[in-house]
Amino acid sequence: MSDTMKAVRLHGAGDLRLDDVPIPTPGTGEVRIAVWRSGICGTDLHIAKGTFPAPNLPLTLGHEFSGTVESLGDAVHGIVVGDRVVVDINIACGHCYFCTRGQKLFCPAVSQLGVHRDGGLAEFVVAPATNIHVLPANLSLNDAAYVEPLACAIHGQDRIGIRSGETVLIIGGGPMGLAHIALARLNGASRVIVSEPDPTRRGLAQSMGADDLINPAESEVADELATLTGGIGPDVVIEAVGSIPTYEAAVQLVRRGGRILAYGAAPQAASMTLRPFDVYAKELTIVGSYAGTYDTWPRAVALIANGRFSPEVIVDSVRPLSDAVEAIRSLEHDRSTVKVHIGIGDR
Ligand SMILES: [Zn+2]
Ligand SMILES: [Zn+2]
Repeated sequence: MSDTMKAVRLHGAGDLRLDDVPIPTPGTGEVRIAVWRSGICGTDLHIAKGTFPAPNLPLTLGHEFSGTVESLGDAVHGIVVGDRVVVDINIACGHCYFCTRGQKLFCPAVSQLGVHRDGGLAEFVVAPATNIHVLPANLSLNDAAYVEPLACAIHGQDRIGIRSGETVLIIGGGPMGLAHIALARLNGASRVIVSEPDPTRRGLAQSMGADDLINPAESEVADELATLTGGIGPDVVIEAVGSIPTYEAAVQLVRRGGRILAYGAAPQAASMTLRPFDVYAKELTIVGSYAGTYDTWPRAVALIANGRFSPEVIVDSVRPLSDAVEAIRSLEHDRSTVKVHIGIGDR
């Protein structure tokens, strides 16, 4: 084996390169994983542009990946070479205020693979053994590369607590909006409405089980919702775009007494107009959702492995590692693909 590998690395805002770098060595308690597939996420574009904080450059991107354990550091127990795995990317100290309350995402020392430390858009990645989830035999490595985004969506729906019989509006039919459609149905929503301007994505939304589709470029979303819900509005609105106009729309579109899930990642410095009177008078509940960790990972594994959730509709493009830099850049304008997976292990 040569001692270098290809890795997609960010050197500064807008400076993303496919580099040759040394293959990382697993330290104590760590394993090295030969990456099989790595998903590209909207967050990667934000990181690459410098609108999502990534403090430690150069950085290998990639926080949605599957692979096979290829070597073990010292003091690793319960994992063997050859295990097929995914990695909870959220590495935390384990003993601070937040970690001891089951909220490790807020750990001051939190270090996410592909955000704070080198991730899986590379031939190999090193991760702590304690963050590994070994896959069941009935989950393919191809599908397993979607476990991370699904874990995030599960966390979001846990946070907003969709109850059976509720009407859910999902703003945005991108890779995460599509996942929220299927999850809302699994969680008992009686009606799932999707607002999405792109016709291809509306078609995919229908394939994922959306009951009603709204094209916000052609019709007034509020009027359509009034017709669909007898003038009441949706019980729950999931913002899955991350833009200011759609966040502002969520506040207006949700029913009185309804709930909003702030799921889409807006640019860190962007601000929205929010009338406190609306929150007060409509008795709104607005809930944030940042990432999935803990049990959302094995639950995502179980949903895909048992056929309750299929990433196949969402993952509509598989490209080689040599295309990854261009694939991340194209997220800015190209809406013709929904979710790009980078095939690395089957190169
Ligand atoms: Zn992501
Ligand atoms: Zn901590």
